[in-house]
Amino acid sequence: TFTMADADPSKPPSAELAAMRALFDAQHAASRREAPADCDCRRDRLERLKIMVKANADRFAAAIADDFGTRARIETELMELVPTLSAIDLARKSVARWMRPEKRHVGLNFQPGRAFVQYEPLGVIGIISPWNYPLNLALSPLVDALAAGNRALIKPSELTPAFSEVLRAAIAEAFDPEEVAVVTGGVEVGKAFASLPFDHLLFTGSTAVGREVYKAAAANLVPVTLELGGKSPVIVADDYPLARAARSIAFGKFLNAGQTCIAPDYVLVPEGKAEALAEALLAEVRRSYPDPARDPDYSGVISARHRQRLLDAIAAARKAGATVLSHGEDAAEQAGKVAPTIVIGAPEETILASEEIFGPILPIIPYHRLDDAIDFVNGRDRPLALYCFARDSDVQAHVLRKTVSGGATVNGTLLHIAQESLPFGGVGPSGIGAYHGAEGFKRFSHARGVFKAGPFIAFERLGPPWGNFARKMAK
Ligand code: NAD
Repeated sequence: TFTMADADPSKPPSAELAAMRALFDAQHAASRREAPADCDCRRDRLERLKIMVKANADRFAAAIADDFGTRARIETELMELVPTLSAIDLARKSVARWMRPEKRHVGLNFQPGRAFVQYEPLGVIGIISPWNYPLNLALSPLVDALAAGNRALIKPSELTPAFSEVLRAAIAEAFDPEEVAVVTGGVEVGKAFASLPFDHLLFTGSTAVGREVYKAAAANLVPVTLELGGKSPVIVADDYPLARAARSIAFGKFLNAGQTCIAPDYVLVPEGKAEALAEALLAEVRRSYPDPARDPDYSGVISARHRQRLLDAIAAARKAGATVLSHGEDAAEQAGKVAPTIVIGAPEETILASEEIFGPILPIIPYHRLDDAIDFVNGRDRPLALYCFARDSDVQAHVLRKTVSGGATVNGTLLHIAQESLPFGGVGPSGIGAYHGAEGFKRFSHARGVFKAGPFIAFERLGPPWGNFARKMAK
């Protein structure tokens, strides 16, 4: 039997934790009792997921807007609903091919045997998701988990209570609790969840919490995929038109008010161009969000605590002598939002320079030579994403070759995540493992190596007495 890491054995577990444990036990028992899900069963689960997402799209979008205060319906559509539905379609279309055993080479001594890799379900997958894209980050791991024939338990963020409740009810309607279920709750539930003996645990969230989740999973030898955060840089090369770069950067940065895991965190730009880039970015901001305080297209910040964290970071940069340029700062603050903000010259010791920003504040950092910009990036933790704007393909190749990041887009922002054919994940402190598409299927499968002996093998009567065997080999 198993005890939850944070449960005090002298106290009975709360009803909430007991219900979660019961759900896990039911899924675990079913995964051991029943035959592994065949292709039809997987497709059926994916189909039910698709119907559920489509039927609840309005409810999901309304709940997310409610949780954020403001979130444009089209942003939820483009960043959450569309990618989830395309992931489902890709999985339904590809799962039969992904499941096909992979033939491997058999050495002469073992012929005419056959060697192959068979991708089998792991069992029960745990999914812990964050608040920033609550639908997509809960359901796209689920798509891959179901394609791989697993059952799953999802723990969404407590910072999106309206959405989490809609998701819980919608999943309960579409799935048997032994197939998929949602558990809601805060940090204590999260901790207990991470201590369950899953067959794999996928966590999306901050690097700090990721560390805790990794420890809790290690206690049960649970393999993990950690989708974490960090400071994703943008490098603008000298040959790239600033106005074009500004348009892409502003799009990637101020979408969802900067609360995007792969949003540009800071921009490195050639010396002497920082002010011009800031102007170009501000022009984009004014065009995109004429009145951020009231603009339905400009998202709110998820909670008062996060808002204060961002306002404090701006104040600290000002105090340290940085140039702060923003669009509608006071009005946004009164409306409970954080205005789009550009900062030039934030010193190294400020929060803006040292921590993931995860909000609508964009520091610009001038560099002398391109290799200085590369050194700047390489002197820090390996980021989740990297963006390079350059016309010259040699410069693009140089930046890609000299840096390491989870993913990258050249001459754009965010777009690599929209490619379903690409693995998505971090490297180093930005994450462990990747998912989406074929990589996601493999991530949640066990690659079982199987050898099937033929009617005879060259080493017949393999085994002692070794004398006979050695004589045979010598022949
Ligand atoms: P978070 O780490 O605070 O919370 C994530 C989830 O973990 C929530 O469901 C929370 O309830 C749960 N949790 C909190 N403490 C826990 C614990 N001790 N044990 C187990 N679970 C616990 O992250 P957040 O604030 O919701 O999200 C923002 C962060 O997520 C940013 O750092 C961002 O970069 C990152 N992120 C990464 C990706 C990616 O795909 N790599 C995507 C989105 C967000």
